[in-house]
Amino acid sequence: MSNTLIMSLSGTRAIIGESFKPTIALEIGMAFGSFVQKGPVIVGGDTRVSHEMIKSAVISGLLSVGIDVIDIGKVTTPTVQQMIKHYNASGGMVITASHNPIQWNGVKLMNSSGSFLDNDEHQQFMNYYQSKSFSLQPWQSIGKITKDDTAIEKHVQIILDKIDVSSIRESKISVLVDANNGAGAVANPVLLDALGVSYKILNAEPNGRFAHDPEPTKENLKELQEELAKGGYDIGFAQDADADRLVILDENGRFIGEDYSLAYCVDYILSTETDPSKKVVVNLSTSQVLTDVSKKHNATIFHTKIGEANVTEGIKAQKATVGGEGNGGVIFPKVGWGRDSLVGITIALKHLAESKKRVSEIVNTYPSYVMIRDKFTVSTKEEVAQYLSKIDSYFSSHTKDKQDGVKVLFDNAWVHVRPSNTEPIVRVFIEAPTAEKAQELLNEVRSIN
Ligand code: MG
Repeated sequence: MSNTLIMSLSGTRAIIGESFKPTIALEIGMAFGSFVQKGPVIVGGDTRVSHEMIKSAVISGLLSVGIDVIDIGKVTTPTVQQMIKHYNASGGMVITASHNPIQWNGVKLMNSSGSFLDNDEHQQFMNYYQSKSFSLQPWQSIGKITKDDTAIEKHVQIILDKIDVSSIRESKISVLVDANNGAGAVANPVLLDALGVSYKILNAEPNGRFAHDPEPTKENLKELQEELAKGGYDIGFAQDADADRLVILDENGRFIGEDYSLAYCVDYILSTETDPSKKVVVNLSTSQVLTDVSKKHNATIFHTKIGEANVTEGIKAQKATVGGEGNGGVIFPKVGWGRDSLVGITIALKHLAESKKRVSEIVNTYPSYVMIRDKFTVSTKEEVAQYLSKIDSYFSSHTKDKQDGVKVLFDNAWVHVRPSNTEPIVRVFIEAPTAEKAQELLNEVRSIN
């Protein structure tokens, strides 16, 4: 049970009724309030049934240490990130377990710029959380709550202020989205009405009773693929439960995958960028298709450690045009410092409207790669380190990137082996031009021990 409580830079996740005791949410609230020192803090979350239970405890913790709270209700994660900037807030707390199944919930922590806490900030927060040295306030200094039920409308307006959507409004594009009864079920109608497209939303009740596992994978999106295959739509979209991740499906219902969805959006953004020093930042496990798309537009690509916080730091450091994670969505700094599926949908529709091509035609111009993911369980963290150094010496003559585990580069292929942050597990990502080549590399990696 204890190993289902996961705390990292990407947030806390745990299981309701088991590892996620409300006292944990309360102490996260107290620790985060002590860390930010002043309010307000924006609090919102996805549509999970446990939303109120966890949110009330988090808010109670914030109020107890004298922090004012703006409760924006059931919203997407990027909506919380946008409202931090809108209200000039000190930070944000998102009640979500992202793509995890229904029994999970969690808390993502955002800083005053509207991005994930960086490493230093997260360490400061953890110091308060672990030492339990909270700045409890007397009755006359505790925080107060205000509510804003229009945060999603504000978020959509911010997107419309930053991105010209006139081509979408003139396009007569027809859209199908699977919101899986998550945060997208609240946000998508607001966005798609504003974009003036015709649309249908599958699983459109924001009640947190997910119609399928919330991770937007091919296996989990059968209903969406079947509905698209019947015809009548130009593009399909699916999001995870807190709608930061986005995946695109073509007009025939073909699941193009999250890496290609990111490439499809980045391709458009780079095509419209006039700054000659274009830069793209993605994580190390992102497909080479992003490198290909960057080359096409004479942009330089940079790779960071896994995790949105690391990618965002990379984008800030490089002053990049765009970035993202292969397994999860677009970060367009012109609009905000986080993965935002609403921005992704807007960009994808602009690409479609202005190219006057089908999604399948655009995607077919990209080189094709096959990515496989695998993992091994080992008994201790020391064994993980030993395994990584064996990989390093086995591929001694190859170019490597060792920011996060070991990534070995081949011609048109790569192998990335990295430790899990939370468990004695080694994760293996492999990408090659064909499934056979990828499997060959996996067999080779598996034989090293
Ligand atoms: Mg998510």
